[in-house]
Amino acid sequence: MTLLDLTPRVRTSPRLDTLPVAVIGAGPVGLAAAAHLARRGVAFDVFERGATPAAAVREWGHTRLFSPWEHLVDDAARELLTETGWREPPAHVVPTGAALVSDYLEPLAAHPAIAGRIRYGTEVAAVTREGMDRTRTAGRADAPLALRVTRPDGTSADVASRAVVDASGTWANPSALGSSGLAPLGLDAVADRVLPALPDVLGRDRDRFAGRHTTVVGAGHSAAGTLIALATLARLEPGTRATWLIRSSSAKRVTTADDELEGRGALGSRLEGLVATGRVAVVDSFEIAALDPTGDGVRMTSTRGAAHETDLIVSATGFRPDLSMLRELRVELDDVVEAPKRLAPLIDPNEHSCGTVEPHGYRELSHPEPGFYIVGMKSYGRAPTFLLRTGYEQVRSVVAWIAGDAAAAGRVELALPATGVCDVGGGCC
Ligand SMILES: Cc1cc2nc3c(=O)[nH]c(=O)nc-3n(C[C@H](O)[C@H](O)[C@H](O)COP(=O)(O)OP(=O)(O)OC[C@H]3O[C@@H](n4cnc5c(N)ncnc54)[C@H](O)[C@@H]3O)c2cc1C
Repeated sequence: MTLLDLTPRVRTSPRLDTLPVAVIGAGPVGLAAAAHLARRGVAFDVFERGATPAAAVREWGHTRLFSPWEHLVDDAARELLTETGWREPPAHVVPTGAALVSDYLEPLAAHPAIAGRIRYGTEVAAVTREGMDRTRTAGRADAPLALRVTRPDGTSADVASRAVVDASGTWANPSALGSSGLAPLGLDAVADRVLPALPDVLGRDRDRFAGRHTTVVGAGHSAAGTLIALATLARLEPGTRATWLIRSSSAKRVTTADDELEGRGALGSRLEGLVATGRVAVVDSFEIAALDPTGDGVRMTSTRGAAHETDLIVSATGFRPDLSMLRELRVELDDVVEAPKRLAPLIDPNEHSCGTVEPHGYRELSHPEPGFYIVGMKSYGRAPTFLLRTGYEQVRSVVAWIAGDAAAAGRVELALPATGVCDVGGGCC
């Protein structure tokens, strides 16, 4: 087993010192990492596969967050933005994803200390160590990390880095619809009738759902938001129906209103009302095994042989991290939630809600691979309980560590709003 070196890094390779830190992803947490690096005067590059900042948040931009602005702005980002005359949105207002982008993330990405460092349209395909695959040990800590990137013109390049902060999120990797963790048998034949989480039911995607029967699969708040939107559409468009399909025997988890994040508690209460009045039908204890086409629709078959027919399916089963890009690194992950091993017990959704996560920083986020950190949504692996405040504290600590400020790196402090929603395996989003 490789022991972690937790003493401040004394670099022996002059080349390593000259290289920038690489941040993967210009989402809220990647941009916060950039702000902390800029504030400390550490050279960095941000690689973002989208053409704009916060490409993932934009995709769910029509959705309202649960947290008010006071929990959504990183401290280093605030300091940078304040210098430019930026006006912080009101603390108690809860923005949509689109407002989070336009009122905070876009100005942050445009800040002179950050703008020139973001490589848009550049996807990180893999991370390794220069000249060393996973098996090679001698001199490993002194070899630069290397990112294989695909540039906007389609060409590939290897970029050498002093450290890598992986803030690439999980949005592009939804969990499987099948209860086995695999795609249900027959998915390919009905793929045009299965939509990803958080469609814009009352806006962009309205025509798709109007007058049709949609079955939403999943027990988290993404499912709840979509069901509420479908119930609203049903009032406006005759023939529109919504069914909530879950694999457990009770829909209670998401419908509790006991939540300090007011917006999330309200979502649970509204869905509970819609279920009670029959405006949202519930199919429980249904573990999806197979899908078959039926004319324009889909027949869903459970592992116990039960059947459910629908026109459309929305897959809101959660997200999982893309680990394939980390194959050549010595990454140590929990075997259940796929979070960094030391972090996993602190966030286990069976034990913790979003609000009871202990403060944590570079120690919990370190791997046997020196200089490599997974932060943000991706650091929680398959656990659904991530909050931005946690991610901001993670990058504050990790960047302090990379910069050699051991005292600041070790001082982790975080106060999160408590929640009653996801304390027994429920989903935060
Ligand atoms: C509907 C919804 C509501 C939420 N509400 C809240 C809330 O109220 N409060 C809260 O605290 N949290 C909330 N969250 C949870 C979480 O804070 C968000 O998901 C947040 O966007 C996570 O930020 P991130 O930077 O870790 O990841 P992301 O926002 O997913 O950003 C990752 C970035 O990396 C880029 N990327 C991905 N892969 C690559 C690659 N290989 N190469 C280059 N770039 C790549 C993506 O394009 C993206 O821009 C919510 C989440 C959702 C989905």
